[in-house]
Amino acid sequence: MSYQGVAIFAEWTGKALHPVSLELLSEARRLAEELNTKVLAFFISSPEGKEAAQELIKHGADEVVWASHEKFSSFLDDLFTRILVKMVETERPEILLFPATARGQALAPRVAGFLRLGLTAHCIAFEIDPKERRLVQIRPSFGENIMAKIISLTKPQMATVRPGVFPRAKAEPARQGEIKPFPLEEEELKSAITVLARKERPRPKIDLSQAKIIVAGGRGLGSKEFFDKLFELADLLGAAVGATRPVCHLGWVSEEHMIGVSGQTVSPRLYLGFGISGAIHHLVGVRHPGLIVAVNTDPEAPLMKRAEIAVEGDVRQILPLLIQRIKALKGAENAS
Ligand SMILES: Cc1cc2nc3c(=O)[nH]c(=O)nc-3n(C[C@H](O)[C@H](O)[C@H](O)COP(=O)(O)OP(=O)(O)OC[C@H]3O[C@@H](n4cnc5c(N)ncnc54)[C@H](O)[C@@H]3O)c2cc1C
Repeated sequence: MSYQGVAIFAEWTGKALHPVSLELLSEARRLAEELNTKVLAFFISSPEGKEAAQELIKHGADEVVWASHEKFSSFLDDLFTRILVKMVETERPEILLFPATARGQALAPRVAGFLRLGLTAHCIAFEIDPKERRLVQIRPSFGENIMAKIISLTKPQMATVRPGVFPRAKAEPARQGEIKPFPLEEEELKSAITVLARKERPRPKIDLSQAKIIVAGGRGLGSKEFFDKLFELADLLGAAVGATRPVCHLGWVSEEHMIGVSGQTVSPRLYLGFGISGAIHHLVGVRHPGLIVAVNTDPEAPLMKRAEIAVEGDVRQILPLLIQRIKALKGAENAS
């Protein structure tokens, strides 16, 4: 039996569509047009998700395969996996994309495992090989500064996609499509998970993914105490604080600040990088920056090469001086 369509997993937060769903839709639409096929959205939500199912159509889905039940206001990975496996078996898409969010990353490998399919994680771009009608999945390779092109030997071709990599699909209010309720037996609604309580995490002062100015630090800062100076600079500039993966793993700052393939994707107008080498795993998370300023002792560091303004020097001297200077300028501004 043949496979047809480009499908996405449309993520429901319990209250609304996760914005990454619209990013996946824009890329699914582009791929579907190249393959001359339809776009499917696999959507699991509580009945309040009806409007969101319409939103998916307005943003590019031709068919929304919708499993709706009160139980789905909570995320239950065993249950959601079973439903998605059944959706794949019923709809047989050629391509299936998941967001690389916590939920997407929990579900994609489980679905791939159940169906014995290949899965490419954390893609940042796709191409279609027109001869073979194959999805070429592009992502930074492990440890090296190269982009790997990966193809799946199984179908559907499955990949996860970093949030913030693709633009959000624009709404076309007149767009028509079909919402297909997905039938479920009572027996299929059983889960081994019981949600006992739900706690909202406090939001950071400035959302990194939306920040216009980012001050980011790497291992070159030398210590947590020194890294904390970035928060002082950020407050002065109205900026958000970003970090490389090693400094998060050293415990200098929480992983919410991580930029890169394992962290967040950002697109600031101004990115100031202190003691950051600029490895590809970090830089793929910095999309379309307006201006990059780098401070590093090594002029050959990749971030120094990429920066519009590259300052060769010791961050431990430059950062305090910069903070002092901005404070002085602000003081002068307030006095006049
Ligand atoms: C699968 C995988 C996923 C990954 N995901 C991510 C990710 O999402 N995000 C991420 O950031 N990394 C990620 N990494 C790690 C990544 O490859 C790099 O190792 C990391 O980004 C380097 O961090 P860094 O620049 O802080 O440290 P380093 O590479 O150690 O660089 C420190 C820099 O500071 C400079 N320096 C040292 N002392 C001073 C000083 N006193 N003053 C000024 N400059 C100084 C040095 O010259 C150097 O350039 C990943 C790696 C793998 C394998």
